[in-house]
Amino acid sequence: MCGIFGIFSLSGEQVAKKIYYGLFSLQHRGQEGAGIAVSDFQNIYHYKNIGLVTEVFNDEILQNLIGFLGIGHVRYSTTGGKAVENCQPFVVRSSFGNIAIAHNGDLLNSEELRIELEKRGHIFTSSTDSEVIAQLLVRELLKTKDVIEAIKKTLKRLVGAYSLLIMINDRIFAIRDPWGFKPLCLGRDEDNIYVSSEDCALSTLNANFVRDVEPGEIVEISKDGIEVYKIENDEEYFINIEGEKVYRKAATCMFEYVYFARPDSTIDGISVYKVRKNIGRELAKEHPVDADLVSPIPDSGNTFALGYSESSKIPYCEGLMKNKYVGRTFILPSQTERELAVRLKLSPIKAVLEGKRVVLVDDSIVRGTTSRRIVEMVRKAGAKEVHLRIGCPKIISPCYYGIDMPTKRELIASNKDIEKIRKEIGADSLGYISLEGLIKAIGRKDLCLACLTGKYPTRTNFKKVMKYN
Ligand code: AMP
Repeated sequence: MCGIFGIFSLSGEQVAKKIYYGLFSLQHRGQEGAGIAVSDFQNIYHYKNIGLVTEVFNDEILQNLIGFLGIGHVRYSTTGGKAVENCQPFVVRSSFGNIAIAHNGDLLNSEELRIELEKRGHIFTSSTDSEVIAQLLVRELLKTKDVIEAIKKTLKRLVGAYSLLIMINDRIFAIRDPWGFKPLCLGRDEDNIYVSSEDCALSTLNANFVRDVEPGEIVEISKDGIEVYKIENDEEYFINIEGEKVYRKAATCMFEYVYFARPDSTIDGISVYKVRKNIGRELAKEHPVDADLVSPIPDSGNTFALGYSESSKIPYCEGLMKNKYVGRTFILPSQTERELAVRLKLSPIKAVLEGKRVVLVDDSIVRGTTSRRIVEMVRKAGAKEVHLRIGCPKIISPCYYGIDMPTKRELIASNKDIEKIRKEIGADSLGYISLEGLIKAIGRKDLCLACLTGKYPTRTNFKKVMKYN
């Protein structure tokens, strides 16, 4: 997934500290690494490392990042290991100038592009897609010298998800792929132009939201303001493995609304909080049950549970407490520690659960490990019945666009019916929201639902895809 954030200061102020705060507000999008690159119009200064934003940066590091425009990145690894080389922004020096790239997404054809470039003598220092994009761009820049032309030619080669920030010398390009898989928006205050994965980071900096970057847009940000170009993509349709013609159309990741984005963000004009509440309400209609209380699995199930409670009139209670010091990336090297993981993160409140018929609500089931352990924990705390309700339909196919989903074999729902999953998880009843219910709750049809349907909005016959299946 990852989060990206950029600022262009029109008044010549230093931007590093503001980027730091922006990244801090996007921390939920990636906790494995962070980086900032700034430009003083000629040189790029950058710093990146493994860890949370607050662990990677301190005042001294930020003070050394002298620049009036800059971009930043928080990393969540899907491809490439945890090494610092794989952190972003990725910076390349070329005779054209220095280039920094921050990427949110996953390209399907990056392996093929990498092999092609290696054959032409390019040497890679990381295993990231960003470096592939950077090397392609440098090639094009050396050929054409026209930056917009070079960017357009580079983007034409990319298949997959990319919300991108490219900083070249004195300008930033904010780009959203033609499918609009990942969010990206623009913000403004008197002195700065902002670009961010989510608008929650704009609120932190007291900047105004201007608009979402549209799928297929290249937004150039410079001292002259904003200039907009369109990505040129020849491939209007492709033939999928079932032999069907699939036309290119916007396909924003539904999982942004369900799990990934912060609830106080609005993506393409739709509030993430409202979607989650709607999903909870739909769930209550689709899967009603007689129960004494509704409890979320915190924090991912919070807003869904509110909606469920509101619609079912079953009281909302906090049946589980979350230890807020355990992050999503809590590293547990041994099996015994992994077994401990859920208990370290969540603990049941016996006084709430004992003797009660409980509806537990969470956003999603991927492998099924978390739900199984939580149901067990809630029963042990004395719950009489445990009914699990899930805000995302059955995940049956891997994601190739940047959500860290396991292989098809590991997905609990890929080859099991609901009853089998219920038994494995140990709940008294199990209800997933339907696909129609999800679409209705989000209120838009131009969604990527590939992990729920197995129907992908792009070509998938690429080398990289093999490893997921
Ligand atoms: P699992 O135990 O594999 O079924 O994981 C499901 C739990 O992980 C749910 O509680 C989700 O909130 C959370 N989750 C779902 N997708 C992801 C993801 N891509 N990265 C991290 N956590 C996730």
